[in-house]
Amino acid sequence: MRCVILAISNLLFNPACIVYANISRFKIITSGTDIVMTYVVVENCIKCKYTDCVDVCPVDCFHEGPNFLVIDPEECIDCTLCEPECPAGAIFADDDVPAGQESFIELNAELTKQWPVINASKDPPSDAEEWDGVEGKLQYLER
Ligand code: SF4
Ligand code: SF4
Repeated sequence: MRCVILAISNLLFNPACIVYANISRFKIITSGTDIVMTYVVVENCIKCKYTDCVDVCPVDCFHEGPNFLVIDPEECIDCTLCEPECPAGAIFADDDVPAGQESFIELNAELTKQWPVINASKDPPSDAEEWDGVEGKLQYLER
């Protein structure tokens, strides 16, 4: 609903507004301001990092840290391809992030600036399965 209101508002007041729609989500780009909807990697990726997600991303917006991946919110085009690929169920739309994990929206944006792009999958950590589903993993995030 937030997107629809913003889209109508931009169309009324800014004829240069371009609205891209993919099924139920919008990316709205005005002449001066981007209102970006993005996907977000949340806590269960920490110490799992299977990297299946990076192979399907058409715009290479995943960045890799020592034991976690993040999505660049400025590059993500909301194609939705990565979400079902994650064996750990750790990718969500930014307006669908599980309760209590909202801080990961800002964390993805922050760590994207520090970590290099990863665009090909690699072997997961040997103990990835043991960590899959463990709660409270934010304390183990390595930067
Ligand atoms: S597939 Fe999921 S757990 Fe693996 S790196 Fe990507 S987001 Fe993290
Ligand atoms: S939604 Fe699409 S563009 Fe965004 S991170 Fe996932 S695969 Fe990449």
